[in-house]
Amino acid sequence: MNCPYCQSANITRNGLARLQNGISHQRYRCLECSRRFNERTGTPMARLRTPTATVSMAMNVRTEGMGARATARTLDSSHSTILRWEQRLAQKCADWSPPAPSDKDITEDVDELYTRVHGNFSPSRLRWLDD
Ligand SMILES: [Zn+2]
Repeated sequence: MNCPYCQSANITRNGLARLQNGISHQRYRCLECSRRFNERTGTPMARLRTPTATVSMAMNVRTEGMGARATARTLDSSHSTILRWEQRLAQKCADWSPPAPSDKDITEDVDELYTRVHGNFSPSRLRWLDD
């Protein structure tokens, strides 16, 4: 691991930080610039005390269409917290995504896509889609 501020590999362990669920994670101090950081520094998860798995699960169920309040009830959180996580991640996603080329079309290759409407279909019944 390198210092996220000056990229130096000259770092030392500097205590533990405890997350909401009691799990601790290692903190580090840079011996070059003296700044402290942990593995979440510089990510959307920086300064959150919620485990990454919880935020990830919230974003997954929101992507699947579950409402913010239902997601909050499921994860024993508040809907405003869920919306704040979304906002935080959306801002970072924009930073991470390279800009789309303005002079080219963007094409997605989709190998398989199944949608359930009024019950289940086995994939073999949808074989005609490939023809
Ligand atoms: Zn540093």
